Amino acid sequence: DKFKHGLEKTRTNFSEKMNALVARYRKVDEDFFEELEELFIGADVGVTTVMTLVDSLREEAKLRNLKETKDLLPMISEKLAALLEKEGDDLSLHFEEEGLTVFLVVGVNGVGKTTSIGKLAHRLTQEGKSVVLAAGDTFRAGAIEQLEVWGERVGVPVIKQQSGSDPAAVMYDAIQAARARKADVLICDTAGRLQNKVNLMNELAKVKRVIEREVPGAPHEVLLVLDATTGQNALSQAKMFGETTDVSGLILTKLDGTAKGGIVMAIRQELDLPVKFIGLGEQKDDLQPFCAEQFVYGLFK
Ligand code: GDP
Repeated sequence: DKFKHGLEKTRTNFSEKMNALVARYRKVDEDFFEELEELFIGADVGVTTVMTLVDSLREEAKLRNLKETKDLLPMISEKLAALLEKEGDDLSLHFEEEGLTVFLVVGVNGVGKTTSIGKLAHRLTQEGKSVVLAAGDTFRAGAIEQLEVWGERVGVPVIKQQSGSDPAAVMYDAIQAARARKADVLICDTAGRLQNKVNLMNELAKVKRVIEREVPGAPHEVLLVLDATTGQNALSQAKMFGETTDVSGLILTKLDGTAKGGIVMAIRQELDLPVKFIGLGEQKDDLQPFCAEQFVYGLFK
């Protein structure tokens, strides 16, 4: 299944080391726990999360009087799954019951924003929704063309203006065009240049204001795209966007390209934002709704 295949690198890294550790240590002792901590940290799980995780394993091993490391294994996956789910997490996308739904997609250049928009458009189309894309990154060279390539690939129209034009004007146009076509969902691309954070954040705020003004209840989602291969960088980007935009959920890309899929745990623990989708490849159907259970299953085979 998709999770198993996409998480292959992380699984190899993780399971093999875990099995080796269990074989080496047979008996539960403090050295075992310390090496287990290192293993998790090496998979980008994040120090704070690892401490919590391993502390609770220590406690339960004591409580249940577990002496064999192999008996700890099922507990580890249970605890990992628990770390990935927080009460009240809302993993679904929100749609307007009648009328236009607008999703705003934000993130730094190169994280996989355009690709994720294309994949999301494909997914929604498959569900029977009609989708329009707005080429709101008017700054990065090639961004508009790249979105058009995706539009063609998945069969959805792209509303654009010339490179360099005002993104807020593009959004206004796109909303009118989506309404004229009676589209269900408008997905808006945005700029992701980081050279000037203040300008970028102002631009996003302006784009958002236009959407809010033109479509009551919109944006229905503000999805922040993060690249799983960048580890702690992804976390700091999330904090930066989170300070200025009301992000409603995350898309974590390129999990297929990293052996450090533990970053999902770190992100879930350190940020108060649900991961709604994960990217597991470059093709149009490589975007999966996030599911903690399947994710952990994918980590252990
Ligand atoms: P943007 O600058 O944020 O719009 O990033 P792009 O969408 O152009 O993606 C940058 C690169 O990452 C491209 O080569 C994509 O094919 C690749 N990419 C995006 N998502 C994934 C993913 O989930 N897995 C893999 N392996 N590559 C991805």
